[in-house]
Amino acid sequence: MRPPRCQVPACRTAVTQAVEIELPVAWEASSEFTVLSVTVGACEEHGFELDRRARALLQARSDLSALLRVIEAAVESDRQLRDLLAACLVGTEVADGGGAR
Ligand SMILES: [Zn+2]
Repeated sequence: MRPPRCQVPACRTAVTQAVEIELPVAWEASSEFTVLSVTVGACEEHGFELDRRARALLQARSDLSALLRVIEAAVESDRQLRDLLAACLVGTEVADGGGAR
């Protein structure tokens, strides 16, 4: 019987380890999320790489809600600055006698 092969299609060498990969079920703004776990057989080289990438994926999903909050705050700050600038420009037009004639 042939031993199981690494699940990386370009590799296909003998499996030396089982790698558990947790995939986020959804990419939403919530800070809590659920995962779907799969276990794949991999050679030593690809096992390490799959584990590293799976951890990076979970970290990105964990960081998502905080990053979205930063973006929302930046958008709100930009909106407030634009409103303030628009109000200052209207005040300048009035002081200069600009506007409707
Ligand atoms: Zn491999």
